[in-house]
This record gives sequence, structure tokens and C-alpha cells, in this order.
Amino acid sequence: MKYLILIIITILAVSCNSAQNAISTKIMTRVDYANTITAEELKTHLYIFAGDAMEGRMTGTKGNNLAAEYLRNYYIDQGISSPIEENNYYQSIPSDYFGRMENPQPSQNVVAFIRGSEKPDEVIVISAHYDHIGIKDGNIYNGADDDGSGTVSLLEIAQAFHEAVKNGNGPKRSILFLHVTGEEIGLYGSKYYTENPLFPLENTVCNLNVDMIGRIDPTKEENPNYIYLIGSDKLSQELHDLSEEVNKNYINLEFDYTFNADNDPNRFYYRSDHYNFAKNNIPIIFYFNGVHADYHRHTDTPDKIEYELMAKRAQLIFHTAWEIANREDRITADKL
Ligand SMILES: [Zn+2]
Repeated sequence: MKYLILIIITILAVSCNSAQNAISTKIMTRVDYANTITAEELKTHLYIFAGDAMEGRMTGTKGNNLAAEYLRNYYIDQGISSPIEENNYYQSIPSDYFGRMENPQPSQNVVAFIRGSEKPDEVIVISAHYDHIGIKDGNIYNGADDDGSGTVSLLEIAQAFHEAVKNGNGPKRSILFLHVTGEEIGLYGSKYYTENPLFPLENTVCNLNVDMIGRIDPTKEENPNYIYLIGSDKLSQELHDLSEEVNKNYINLEFDYTFNADNDPNRFYYRSDHYNFAKNNIPIIFYFNGVHADYHRHTDTPDKIEYELMAKRAQLIFHTAWEIANREDRITADKL
């Protein structure tokens, strides 16, 4: 009798489990993967990544290397592969490349890769710079928004795609997660990547660049449900239209194109890493929350980040990448 009960319990447990698995596999959609990007996980990462131990992540310093290690260890832990070779996530950049630094040291871009299931040679690059401006007058410049916010968003977006892969639902085209160094001293990491690409630039479908998405522009306090988009229509109307459509269907942020104007005096289009892709005729979108009082000051700290809003913005970027990766035809630079 005892055995009979045990057998029945075992059968029940096993069948419950497999029923549950069947259900969870069946109903996982892009929205479920997007929802794995959470405010809580972004916050956990950012308090470490923009913490004092990283010493402001100035290119070539100990803190910069510690930050690179954090990213590499994350990808290893998650089982997300490198496009270079097993367990080597660093694209090394020699010291003499950083011409503008006083005492240049070598640094590295950190890369991770999700291979496309149908068109693996076509690559979408999602980028964020992980360097910042170091320590000045004894103050650590944590760079939580600039660009800790973009950096940890990439970690969460990569995890969401990796979940999809694990469920047999991975993207058709490949996705390269590119954490560039040397941005603050002159866009060096992205320049180095585009001069030494891991995948041919002809096969690089687009670049989605994320630089500061964790804060609210003081002029937007009344309606913080926004993001500035820059560059989406400069080279590709298709990319621009896709981006608008994805937002309407899944996220509903207000898209503000103020800084996209050709005559905008801030010239943000030329001021972050996407520009090195754009100048190679690769369509880009730059995601940006605008500047604020803590921009490039030691007060850009993780406690000031709007994590729920940042998660929503990161989900938007995930959905946009998902759409570009999975739609039938490759988007083209149709405005060239
Ligand atoms: Zn930045």
C-alpha cells in the first residue's frame, strides 16, 4: 500500500511538472521575454556597476578593467557566448590607439553574441559605452546614467534574447552586444570596432546605441513617459517606421525627436558611438534621456535612476531589436 501511494504521488508529480513545462513553453512570447527585463535586476546590476569600487571606469584604468570583468563574468554565468572564441569576450585595443590620453594604457571592448537561427550572417549591433571619466579632485564619477544605464540594459536585453533561444524561439538574425570603451575620450572603442569589425560591416544590419536612459530631463518632469530618439530616419526610413510601429504596438513611450533636427545645436547625432556606424552608412538609432544637472558630475549616482522607466525603455529596445532580427526582409539604408 505504501508503495502504491508513493507510485501514485510520483506519477502525479511528474505529470503536473510536464504539464506545467508544456504550458510555459507554449505561451512564452516576445512580450514574456521583454518582461524578463525588470527594474529590480537593472537596479541590482547598476548599484555594483556604478559603485565606488569601479572608480569611475576611466579608459585604461583598474576600474575600467574591473568593469570589463563584471560584464565578461556575467556573460559566462548566463551561458551567453562570445563571438571571438570560448571564454574570450575582449576585443583588445592597444594603448597607442588612444592618442588623446596623457598616459595611454590598453583597454578593451567587451562583446557577447547571440547567433541567428536562420540568417546568422546578418548582424544587429546593440551598443553602450562602459567607460566613464574616472576620479577628479578625489571625487569618484560613478556615471550611473552615463552610461551605466545603457550598459546594464544591454545585460538584461541579452538575457531576454537568451531566454528565447533556450525556448527554441531565438532571433533569426544574429545580435552582437557591444560594450565599448574609450567613449568619453573620443568615441575610440566604437571607432576601433568599425575599423576592426568582428563581422563584415556590409552584413551589419543596424546599430542600436544606448547612452543614458535612466533619468528624466528636467523639462520632461510633467510627462516622464518619453525617450529622445536620434538618427532613426537619417539613413533608413524602414528603420524609422519599424521603430515607431514597435513602440505603438508594445510600449507606448512618447518619442521625442527634438535632438534629431539637422540644425540642432547640441549635435548629439555626432556625439556618441552610433556615429561611427552611421558614417559607414549603417542605419542607427540612438536612445537618450537628455541631459540633467548631474550630467558629467560626480553626482550621477545609482540612487537617482528611475528604474521602472529605464526598464520600459530597455524593453522598447529589446522589442525593436526583436523586430529587426525576425522580420522577413533585412532593413536597408534606403535613404542613401
Ligand atoms: Zn555617454
